Amino acid sequence: ISPEFIAQVRQKISSSPVTHFIGGEFVAGARGQIFESLDPSNNQVLAHVYRGHAEDVDQAARAARAAFDKWRLSAKARKKYLLKIAELLEKHADELAVIECLDAGQVLRIVRSQVARAAENFSFYAEWAERAMDGRTYPVDAEWINYTVRVPVGVCGIITPWNAPLMLSTWRIAPALAFGNTVVLKPAEWSPLTAWKLAEVIQEADLPPGVFNVVQGFGEEAGDALVRHPEVPLISFTGETTTGSIITQNSALYLKRLSLELGGKSPAIIFQDADLERATDATIFQIYSFNGERCTANSRALVHESILEEFVNRVAERAARVKVGHPLDPETEVGPLIHPEHLERVLGYVQIGQEEGAKRVVGGERVGDRGNYISPGLFVGENHMRIAQEEIFGPILTVIPFKDEAEALRKANDVKYGLAAYVWTKDVTRAHRVALHLEAGMTWINSHNVRHLPTPFGGMKFSGTHREGGEYSLEFYTELKNIALPL
Ligand code: NAD
Repeated sequence: ISPEFIAQVRQKISSSPVTHFIGGEFVAGARGQIFESLDPSNNQVLAHVYRGHAEDVDQAARAARAAFDKWRLSAKARKKYLLKIAELLEKHADELAVIECLDAGQVLRIVRSQVARAAENFSFYAEWAERAMDGRTYPVDAEWINYTVRVPVGVCGIITPWNAPLMLSTWRIAPALAFGNTVVLKPAEWSPLTAWKLAEVIQEADLPPGVFNVVQGFGEEAGDALVRHPEVPLISFTGETTTGSIITQNSALYLKRLSLELGGKSPAIIFQDADLERATDATIFQIYSFNGERCTANSRALVHESILEEFVNRVAERAARVKVGHPLDPETEVGPLIHPEHLERVLGYVQIGQEEGAKRVVGGERVGDRGNYISPGLFVGENHMRIAQEEIFGPILTVIPFKDEAEALRKANDVKYGLAAYVWTKDVTRAHRVALHLEAGMTWINSHNVRHLPTPFGGMKFSGTHREGGEYSLEFYTELKNIALPL
């Protein structure tokens, strides 16, 4: 990507405030107030963004409701539109990648794969559009028959976090649209820009006005208005566990259908017979790539005491060599954290870890004095410590020793979260046994997190309430109706 192209994108982002997209139009919203979005690499203002309020959410929900009856009717047409969006996302991949790097601080090599995945989200669900029509028959006897049909739920409210804005939003928007719903998206206020570019792409794909809408703004304002809007029967939320709980309470009055994808404190359990080279590689990738801001990060490594020293030495040596730098530098492995407040929070945990007696082996220090850079950090600690119990959402790994399988399992499950887990061993039986007893929505054996889109994605305990992916999204974004008739 050339410097000229980057300059052009910067110019486009900063030349006028980033708008909402409502009813097929790019608009400033009812009050016309704006907020600043910062460039995490230097904390300078990157863009001005219109700040949505309840009036804008109401307008978007009405536009989505008005578009719903037409949009739900033809699965064939929806499939074509989704394939078109996938094609256009690929066509605009460079621009999307640059915007996401500048806005979210994620590094180019990661962002490129995220943009490809965003396109894949649409092409994958395009193929599912017609399956929403599948039903079953239940013949009773010679005189009665029942059959089921699936229908879309209506206007879907989609609320997303700042760590992987484009991939995570399209992962919900694509199935919602494929199955005949219309959408109002509220992106995170710390990374609002790719949602705006996605609206441009969707306009270029010529979707009927109102089928897809974006309202920018803050969670407590625009997000909350979406949660409480009576015309929005479904909320798909990705973000912090505490926010998920607030949304559950605030939507209770309307009995909304909720999918909550929340925080994690996922363990990698590394047994003494593990392929240590691969386990080290994968563990490093899972905690330090994505700037550590990855919901399925293995932020705890539970390591058998006999290989603890070797594992720690290997990780420390590698962590010290990880290249921290500007997200658009193709060599960079870890970019800046999203926001100065988040940097403070992560550095706060480094301090807490030391105060509670964990041994800081390497990193966890601020890098430079501009931007939110931090070096990949490694602690050896114990599972009861706050750095092992609470989600830090930064490049900080806590290694915890164990003596035997029972202790490894007990420690792995002894957190409030249950999103993902990783098991490293050559003992096949043990691998399956441990996976079965782990309190995690998703477990990978001898592998980092490799996603296959038909499989269920989601967490147990405080990590979430639902699963999305393949048929699980079909269930979530449709209503199942039973129709009975005498013959
Ligand atoms: P957050 O909960 O602060 O915000 C997420 C979104 O919710 C934002 O758009 C925000 O504006 C909105 N919001 C905030 N308060 C709201 C309210 N009262 N009503 C409605 N909307 C509201 O989360 P974050 O800091 O943006 O993201 C980081 C978190 O996301 C981490 O905990 C991470 O683990 C989690 N996450 C989970 C997954 C997953 O699939 N399980 C994926 C990515 C991130």
